[in-house]
Amino acid sequence: MGELSKRFLQDINRILPSDCVITERDILTKYSHDETPELKAIPDMAIVPDNSDQIESVVRLCYEYDVPITPRGAGTGVAGGAVPINGGVVISLERLNKIIDIDTRNLIATVQPGVITGILQHAVAEENLYYPPDPASVDSCSIGGNVATAAGGMRAFKYGTTKKSVQGLEVIFPPGKKVNLGGKMIKDVAGYDLIGILTGSEGTLGIFTQIMVRLVQLPTFSVDLLAGFDSIDKAIQTALSIVPDTGVYPCAMEFMEGDIIQMVETFLDKKIPLSSANSQLIVSIDGMDEKMVENSYFRVGEHLLNCGAHDVLVASNRFNSELLWKARRSIREAIRHRSPDIAAEDVAVPPTRTPELIRGVKKIGDEHNVEIVGFGHIGDGNIHIDMLRNRLSDSQWEQKKNKVIPEILRLAVQLEGTITGEHGIGCIKRKYFHLAKNNFVIERMRKIKQALDSKGLLNPGKVFP
Ligand SMILES: Cc1cc2nc3c(=O)[nH]c(=O)nc-3n(C[C@H](O)[C@H](O)[C@H](O)COP(=O)(O)OP(=O)(O)OC[C@H]3O[C@@H](n4cnc5c(N)ncnc54)[C@H](O)[C@@H]3O)c2cc1C
Repeated sequence: MGELSKRFLQDINRILPSDCVITERDILTKYSHDETPELKAIPDMAIVPDNSDQIESVVRLCYEYDVPITPRGAGTGVAGGAVPINGGVVISLERLNKIIDIDTRNLIATVQPGVITGILQHAVAEENLYYPPDPASVDSCSIGGNVATAAGGMRAFKYGTTKKSVQGLEVIFPPGKKVNLGGKMIKDVAGYDLIGILTGSEGTLGIFTQIMVRLVQLPTFSVDLLAGFDSIDKAIQTALSIVPDTGVYPCAMEFMEGDIIQMVETFLDKKIPLSSANSQLIVSIDGMDEKMVENSYFRVGEHLLNCGAHDVLVASNRFNSELLWKARRSIREAIRHRSPDIAAEDVAVPPTRTPELIRGVKKIGDEHNVEIVGFGHIGDGNIHIDMLRNRLSDSQWEQKKNKVIPEILRLAVQLEGTITGEHGIGCIKRKYFHLAKNNFVIERMRKIKQALDSKGLLNPGKVFP
């Protein structure tokens, strides 16, 4: 540590108990990465606060000493948002992990940011309530990280992304000021929507220390259908026709191409139903009325067969559903099991343009002779596109990434879409941000950043080119 950092360390030790401060290099490694492939940066220090007052004091001190701050949730991000690429201090929210209150009358859960999303879902289910946002990382990501990335997931098609669920925030803004925004009132149009700006701000505008999320009624009945198709195009066209042709609005529609199904099978070392299909669709239907759900899934099942599915399986109990979703949730690990280095894109296009997107991406892969696979949230046009390094040398891999990634992102924008649907810009997509937003918009966003973080110390090197 440098001269200034030593004085900073003394001050930090003055305001925090010693077990909240980490400077040992081997422990700091934990805070040097998230789940972004090939990205690592060791911070000078990690702080693991017990409460929001401590965070307020640390932010104040960092501002005084010009020390960069990187907020961190559970470190499952895949855009490098929690990676301290400019050194300085990582503030990890892992100990702020309490569910403070589940208000069953106002339908609001008040939680600390470090609560794991799946734990909140289970806790509210015990009260017959439902927290819909459902990223595939649900058992390991935190609510704070979800709010900071506006996380999506499987059920966003019907219930919306995390953006739709946030109703209140306790935030620490630079240079160290705790503020409450929103609350249990459902409506609030007094002034600008700061919660809207902060949700998805990737730790660059403020640190969330308490979050209120909106809950809905727990759907009592649900059924998952798994359909196998002999072509990607048929699977996608079928998915797009479900709502208009059957009148049923599924809560999730997920797509996987055949190569991925094989990778999951190898990774889990388990036979997966319909694994010989060229592509699969999972369609989930939920509701409060058993007869209605049954009726809906019959209609959808019949429609899938009429559209050319060669098989449709029904998972109508929890055990079968969990098996099915385990395969879906394992996709990212399965791909990395096959090729530890991947470039993971999560473009989003209007759902009707997804067939063009998938065709275009396959063409790009063929032209550049690289393996590219696609899967994801077909219902909302948010497709995960992973390029596998396989056996490419370092220089070949760099070359392929530099050529192929911008081509995929440009294609998504040409199709009236965007370069990231749920993972965020973080640091890995900064150089492509201009493809998604024009200069005028980026400059206005910069002005917002400057207004809230005048020294640019909060998560520097993220979002902006
Ligand atoms: C296997 C796998 C599957 C995934 N599936 C999905 C998916 O379906 N949908 C989806 O949207 N994402 C998915 N992700 C990505 C990731 O899980 C999400 O981005 C998640 O929201 C990150 O939460 P986290 O707690 O891990 O945050 P982190 O990775 O720790 O941080 C993410 C960003 O949030 C900021 N941040 C964290 N906490 C706070 C806070 N309290 N205040 C201010 N800023 C904060 C960080 O600075 C960083 O910029 C997946 C990741 C993996 C590994």
